[in-house]
Amino acid sequence: MTQEDNTDQLVVRVDDVRKEYGDTAALDGVSLRIRAGEAVAVMGPSGCGKSTLLNMVAGLDRPTAGTVTVEGEDLGKLSETGLAMYRRRRIGMIFQFFNLLDDLPALDNVALAAQLAGASARTARKQALELLDGLGVAHRANAYPATLSGGERQRVAVARALMNRPALLLADEPTGALDSRSGEQVMDLLTDLHRSGQTLLIVTHDPHLATRCANRLVEMADGRVVRERILERAA
Ligand code: ADP
Repeated sequence: MTQEDNTDQLVVRVDDVRKEYGDTAALDGVSLRIRAGEAVAVMGPSGCGKSTLLNMVAGLDRPTAGTVTVEGEDLGKLSETGLAMYRRRRIGMIFQFFNLLDDLPALDNVALAAQLAGASARTARKQALELLDGLGVAHRANAYPATLSGGERQRVAVARALMNRPALLLADEPTGALDSRSGEQVMDLLTDLHRSGQTLLIVTHDPHLATRCANRLVEMADGRVVRERILERAA
């Protein structure tokens, strides 16, 4: 059996996906495989379809044609409720602008992710504090997002994304709104997560981020994958 045939290890399988917005084909026949433990960076110029691809894998939007399968689950067969459950339980997402809830302290932002997936408030808060501790921001647990630095906000957002032990962590320009020092810290964090076996899909236009954090680079242009390559990574 070839590695390609070993579908057991595939976390993401995107098959010939097309997405049209009116007359625009944001995705024009994209296929992508991500195996467990891989960190894949998708790069390409603005407007080439990177975020649209991420949104398809995140179950935030549905393809016009083609299929997206994550951990053996065909997202096209899920109802809207099923998709919402999928987003809460199977994936974690981090965004350029963090998307934290402003009126909740850091700890509650993180704990809420587990509560929405069915955990008790007590268990959720305990796990959230452990995660914040692991990411070096436990001392900011009671702070509101507005009082956190950009780097701290992204660490809290990463903690939230990891809360339900997602099979797949999706990141859309995770360092795009950070100064270079905070950006480096978030890159270290993503690299550590990859080393510990977390499967990652990162969308970025920063080649430094891609080569630091990913083991495979997928380049897109005009809604298509135009090049793929394995990256040599420093040990
Ligand atoms: P990237 O993330 O690479 O910058 P996007 O996936 O955001 O690219 O966009 C790809 C193309 O699809 C662009 O032409 C964009 O204008 C278009 N597009 C994306 N989302 C929408 C939408 N919700 N409505 C209409 N057009 C969209």
